[in-house]
Parts: sequence; C-alpha cells; structure tokens
Amino acid sequence: MSNMAAPKDSPVWVNENRCKGCDICVSLCPAGVLGMKMDANKVLGKIVKVRHPESCIGCLDCELHCPDFAIYVADRKEFKFAKVSQEAQERAEKVKANSFMLLD
Ligand code: SF4
Ligand code: SF4
Repeated sequence: MSNMAAPKDSPVWVNENRCKGCDICVSLCPAGVLGMKMDANKVLGKIVKVRHPESCIGCLDCELHCPDFAIYVADRKEFKFAKVSQEAQERAEKVKANSFMLLD
C-alpha cells in the first residue's frame, strides 16, 4: 500500500513520477492488467499503464517486485478482487509476447 490516495475505481495504481518503465511488473502480472506505453519523457522511453483493473486478482506481485516502489495494490479489506480467468491469462500471455506493450 502507498501513502498516495487510492483511486476509488481501481485496485491497482501507479505513481507515474516514480515509474522508470522497466517492465518487471508487466512481466509478472498473471492477469494481463498492466502494459507498457511509449512515453518520450521517460528515461527508458515508456511507462506502465493499468489497462484492465477489473481483472486484477490482488496477487501483489507487481507491488512487491517494483524496484522503484511505483505501483500499489489495494488492501483486500477494501477491495473485492477478481478471480483469475482464462481470458485474463491469455491477455497476459499476449502482452508478454508483445514485448510487454499494451495490446490496444
Ligand atoms: S516495476 Fe515499477 S518501475 Fe518497473 S515498469 Fe512497473 S511500476 Fe514502473
Ligand atoms: S496485483 Fe497481481 S494481478 Fe493485480 S496488477 Fe498486480 S500483478 Fe497484476
């Protein structure tokens, strides 16, 4: 959890000032929630975006492995997470095959 205020409509959120665009969270997300987007203002030329918050299962892998403490997941007591679905798993595989970039 972060000190940043959580958005009311999403169980996962990003401090874009901290994200350096390393892909680690996207590579670990089992539910295709995340993806990278080009951003010329960033050191590595990209930034993470939360594209499918409705699919987040609350596994915490993104938050626990981000080297820059830039991505946060809601508390289970405050948010009802999704169950992992085949559609979400397939989307995660497609994002990984797409060099971690958003599919749309
Ligand atoms: S792991 Fe952290 S720094 Fe890397 S892309 Fe994800 S949010 Fe950004
Ligand atoms: S908590 Fe798990 S499912 Fe949700 S965005 Fe992070 S890695 Fe993906």
